Amino acid sequence: MKYKSRTFQLVCALSALCLAILVSSPLILLAFPKFSTPAQTASPIQSPESPLPETNYNMPGTVVDAYYINENPDNPPLPAKPAYDTLTITERQAQGLSLEIPKTSPYYGQKVVYLTFDDGPEPENTPAVLDILKQNGIKATFFVVGNQIEKYPEILRRIYHEGHAIGNHSYNHVYRELYQSPNSYFSQLRQTDEVIKKIIGVRPRISRAPGGSAGSFTKDYWETLKKLGYTEVGWNVSSGDASSAKANAIVNNIVAQMENKHLWSHATLLMHDGRGHAETVKALPTIIKYYKDRQFEFRVINFETPSPW
Ligand SMILES: [Zn+2]
Repeated sequence: MKYKSRTFQLVCALSALCLAILVSSPLILLAFPKFSTPAQTASPIQSPESPLPETNYNMPGTVVDAYYINENPDNPPLPAKPAYDTLTITERQAQGLSLEIPKTSPYYGQKVVYLTFDDGPEPENTPAVLDILKQNGIKATFFVVGNQIEKYPEILRRIYHEGHAIGNHSYNHVYRELYQSPNSYFSQLRQTDEVIKKIIGVRPRISRAPGGSAGSFTKDYWETLKKLGYTEVGWNVSSGDASSAKANAIVNNIVAQMENKHLWSHATLLMHDGRGHAETVKALPTIIKYYKDRQFEFRVINFETPSPW
């Protein structure tokens, strides 16, 4: 009898344990949802208050107000925001993921201007440009050079955190090395992407060829560009600040080109924040005032930006 009751007690205890496990397992799954659903098939929860996709789609550590390319099918491109990829080309290829650019239609407004700055970051001019943009409450696009970012990573972080767009402008900006072949050009682009991702956790998908694509890009460059998923960004208004132009000459250059009203729907203005461009910084408040006085909308370059030509 004693033996029987001990067995009975044991069976009871085991049954109770099984029941406890059965009852609590959904609670455990609720507490640890990552174990219950494969990340790639989980349906994202999005509310108007939090338009950013869930963290299980390879989100960077620090999320800013930007559009992040990831494999979430319900992640539509968000207009007027910088676009970044959470994965590098190598990571995408290793996982068999698409390198295509998200499909959008070009945005043409009544009066739109894209301020772009090439060749930075630079310790004097870039922070000064960022200060002016902040004072005016507007965003711009910075085409950065890989070896400059290595020297000034904190400036790149500031560009990113203040909501501006970042584009790839090669690793060393040396034309004779860059344009030897598509291979040398794209190895610099990939190298710069890796440097950017190491610093801000994401990489750009827009690029601007140093000196411009005209005269440097052959059919092979354009084909590789498309295959690797980069959007090349030119310009249609040149500030003429690449020479030793003074601030008032820079402003006059821009004003003269803006006479062409066909540019108003998507004016893409080329400026420089690299070394030796203090006159651009000096001219910038007047340039911004010119566009503000005429009710231009300031936007950052993303996949909705029309081709400038
Ligand atoms: Zn350049």
